[in-house]
Amino acid sequence: MLTNELYQYSILNALMSGVSEGGIPASKLTKVGNQGLGTFVRMNGELVLLDDTVYQFKADGTVRRADPEDEIPFAMAVSLDPSFSVNQAIDSKDAVASIIADQLPHTANLFAAYRIDAHFKFLKVRSVAGQDYKGQSLSELGHKQTFYEFKDVQGTIVGFYTPASWQGISVAGHHLHFISNDRTKGGHVLAVEAAMAKISGAIMTNVHIELPMSQDFNDADLRSDDAAIRKMEG
Ligand SMILES: [Zn+2]
Repeated sequence: MLTNELYQYSILNALMSGVSEGGIPASKLTKVGNQGLGTFVRMNGELVLLDDTVYQFKADGTVRRADPEDEIPFAMAVSLDPSFSVNQAIDSKDAVASIIADQLPHTANLFAAYRIDAHFKFLKVRSVAGQDYKGQSLSELGHKQTFYEFKDVQGTIVGFYTPASWQGISVAGHHLHFISNDRTKGGHVLAVEAAMAKISGAIMTNVHIELPMSQDFNDADLRSDDAAIRKMEG
């Protein structure tokens, strides 16, 4: 496995168009990276890959280890070999973006991957409850998000930065998923605070995107709807 090479399965616009019936098995994702994020078939919950294990954070708040054969319709993963590691306070998601920009200057148009290990003072996460019917778009699932707030929780955030020009291929900007050390809490991060956090990361100049060969993917309109992505994934 190459380090600091982004592996991605499918593109975000496929999820936005509701293409989520199948994908790569969880056992494959653990071979292409040691950390990652994504979702499951029918967009049933949020995915976190950390240290060779894939977890599913479901909308009911429970976390389960994915089975090796569970299919993943969208994911990003990397085998991270950090080029920097710093200890800093984090008072918001914007602060995370500033820290990454400071540590990796002149990389606005490159991908980056990072992880944040901390005793988090506060976290707000969400999980999506899954499609009501085949092909339902991700934006229509806005009403099926469940939000959770955690206080004083030890854990790890897996983060990816995607350049603005790749909006629709991935989520432009910063995309963060959390998993607690005891593996009972997790989700797509909306807000974060930590008095002290260890942040480590690296740029990724190599990008490997694997595309689905399904009929659904073929039939989908995969043009970007920037406003819809920002509303759902920002
Ligand atoms: Zn997410």
